[in-house]
Amino acid sequence: MTKEYVMAIDQGTTSTRVILYDKNGNTVGMVKKELPQIFQEPGWVEHDANQIWIDTEWLMQQVLTKYDIPAQEIDSIGITNQRETTVLWDRETGEPVAPAIVWQSKQSNIMADKLKENHLEEKIYDKTGLWIDSYFSATKIMWLLDQNSELKQLMDEDRLRFGTIDSWLLWKLTRGKAHATDYTNASRTMLFNIHTLQWDPELLDLYGINPNLLPKVKNSSDDFGETILKGVPIKIGALAGDQQAALFGHQAFKPGSIKSTYGTGAFIVMNTGDQPKVSKHGLLTTIAYGLNGKITYALEGSIFVAGSAVQWLEEGMDIIDNSAMSAEYAYQSSQSVPYQDIYLVPAFTGLGAPYWDQKIRGAAFGLTRATRNQDLVRATIESLAYQTKDVLDVMTVDTGLTRTHLSIDGGAAANEYLHEFMADLLQIKITRPRKLEMTARGIAYLAGLQSGFWSSIDQLPDNPEMLTVDYNEEHKQTMQKHYENWQKSVKAAQKFAYHR
Ligand code: ADP
Repeated sequence: MTKEYVMAIDQGTTSTRVILYDKNGNTVGMVKKELPQIFQEPGWVEHDANQIWIDTEWLMQQVLTKYDIPAQEIDSIGITNQRETTVLWDRETGEPVAPAIVWQSKQSNIMADKLKENHLEEKIYDKTGLWIDSYFSATKIMWLLDQNSELKQLMDEDRLRFGTIDSWLLWKLTRGKAHATDYTNASRTMLFNIHTLQWDPELLDLYGINPNLLPKVKNSSDDFGETILKGVPIKIGALAGDQQAALFGHQAFKPGSIKSTYGTGAFIVMNTGDQPKVSKHGLLTTIAYGLNGKITYALEGSIFVAGSAVQWLEEGMDIIDNSAMSAEYAYQSSQSVPYQDIYLVPAFTGLGAPYWDQKIRGAAFGLTRATRNQDLVRATIESLAYQTKDVLDVMTVDTGLTRTHLSIDGGAAANEYLHEFMADLLQIKITRPRKLEMTARGIAYLAGLQSGFWSSIDQLPDNPEMLTVDYNEEHKQTMQKHYENWQKSVKAAQKFAYHR
C-alpha cells in the first residue's frame, strides 16, 4: 500500500486536532476535541496531562475511521504543541505527578521574582534568549518541586521526568521508549542554552533542577521513534512548538519573513536566519527550527491574551454566544453614534512582549453610561491589534526592517473586523489563508521532510489561497490617536496596584 498521507497532531491550548495532508498539501481529514481549562486559583491555568494523551490517542484513530483511511497509508506523524506547558511524570508508572501547568499560568510568579531579585535577567537572556517570566517552563518546574517534597525525592531517585507537551505525547506514543524534544520546544524552557545548543548546567544548578529530568534535544525534523496505530508501526518524524510550526507552515524560510498567529495568545515570529538576533526591547530570541542539522533562529513577540479574551467574552461575561459573533458585534459598535472611544487592556495573566509585566491585570478605560456590550466586544478585538502594533514597532527598531505586509493565521484571524482594523492601524496589507491551520501544516511539512515524503523545502506544496485586506490611508491619523490612547491605558493599568 502506498503512503499517501502525513498525520499532524496539533495539541493546542484550547483543543487537540489531528489533520491529514496529502502530497499536494490538501487537507484530507480533520478531527478535533476541545480541552477543558482548569482554573484552581485566580491567574492559574492547568490541564490534565492524561486527558491530553487520551484525547490525542482517540483522535488519531478517529481521523482514520472517519475518513476511511487504512493506517498503512500514513507515511509519518508530526507533533506540534502549546509551548512551555509543563508536565512532570513518574517514568516507572508513566503517570503525571501533578496537573500540567499551562504556559499562561501564574502560580510560579514567586519563583520568577526570586530570580529577578538575584539580578539574573541579563545572564538568563544571554544564555536562553528569554526574559525571566513565569511563562517559561523553568519556574513552573521549580514551583512544583518546591510545593511537594515527594517530587524532589522522585527526582533524586531518578524517577521524575519533565517534558513540554511534545515530549509527554512522544513518551506516551512510544510507550516510554523515547524521552526527547526538539530545539524549538527546548528553547522555551529557560533551561536551554540557544548558543551552545545544550541544557545549561549553570542554570540547572541555579534552579535546583537535576539534568536527569530532561529530554534529549533533537532537530525539529528527526527520527523520534515510532508508534503503533491500529496495529501498524508509524514513524514520528517531527516535533516543534506551535508558533515555530506555524512559521514553517507559512514557508517563512527567508530571514526577515514574519507571521502572526492569533490563537489563545498571539505570537509574532520573525525568521532571523542562522544567527540569533539580540533584542533591546523585550522580544525573545528563540529557535525557529532545526533542520538537517542546521539551526534557524527567530525573534518573537509573545502576547499572552488574544483569542482567550474573546473566550472570556463568551464564557466569562456571557456577552456573546460564540467567538464568531464577536466580529458582528464589533462592526455594530464601530458604526454606533456617538462613537464609544473605549479601550480594554486584556492583561488577565499579565502582559508579555514588550512589557513583561506579570503583575498587571486587566482594565477597561473610557466607559460611559452609553457603553454597551457591543463596545466592550469591539474594544476586546481591537486590543489584539494594538498589542500586535506594540510588538511590530519594537521589532522594526530591533531589526531595522520595515514591514509592508503581514501574514496572519490562527482561530481569531477569522475575525474580519480584526483583519480590517489591524490593516488600518498598522497601515500595511494583511493576508490570511482561507484555511487557518498553518500550525498543523507546518508540522506536517517537517515530518514529511524527515521521511522523504517531500524531498526538500523547494518541493513543498504551494500554500493555500490567501485573502488580502488593504489598509485605508485616510484612517491613519485617527488610528494614531487611538493607539496613543491604548498606550496610555496600558500605562494606567500598570500603575494600578491593589491594597491587600
Ligand atoms: P489554540 O491553538 O491556542 O487553542 P486556536 O488557533 O484554535 O487556538 O484559536 C482559538 C481561539 O480563537 C479561541 O480563543 C477563540 O475564542 C478564538 N476565536 C475563534 N474564532 C474567532 C473569531 N471569529 N473571532 C475572534 N476570535 C475567535
